Amino acid sequence: MKTNCIFCKIISGDIPAYKVYEDSYVLAFLDIAPVNPGHVLVVPKIHSSNLDDIDELMLGYLMKVVRLIGRSMKKSLGANGYNVIINNGAVAGQLIDHCHVHLIPRHPKDGLTPWPQAKYKDDEPRKLAAKIKANVIVC
Ligand code: 5GP
Ligand code: ZN
Repeated sequence: MKTNCIFCKIISGDIPAYKVYEDSYVLAFLDIAPVNPGHVLVVPKIHSSNLDDIDELMLGYLMKVVRLIGRSMKKSLGANGYNVIINNGAVAGQLIDHCHVHLIPRHPKDGLTPWPQAKYKDDEPRKLAAKIKANVIVC
């Protein structure tokens, strides 16, 4: 547990939350400010800041639970689908420094618009792909 971490406090029970799933490793609860009703956050019980420092086995297990919750959203809320989002780093919108996965139930015409997308120019995509490819470190 990390001092002053809101999600660690929810895990320990110091801050209340509407829990939808819990086991020894993972907790899932309603986001306090939902993008859509039923918006859930899934968090590992062991504190890690984000995707970069979460244990690899834990990450796999976390995603297994994400899928279970997503299936429940379709069954229980009648969601047609759901978005799975991880804001990784402050620049990406991560406000809480405890690794978490957003699960947002989706319905037809629910008003949520996709991100704006752009077009590449000239040689840009080849160069970018080469840069990223060169720095993928498999460990
Ligand atoms: P982030 O922007 O870090 O990816 O998302 C953090 C999420 O945590 C936000 O959607 C925010 O509404 C939610 N959140 C922040 N504080 C609390 C809290 O005390 N309880 C719950 N249930 N959710 C919280
Ligand atoms: Zn924490």
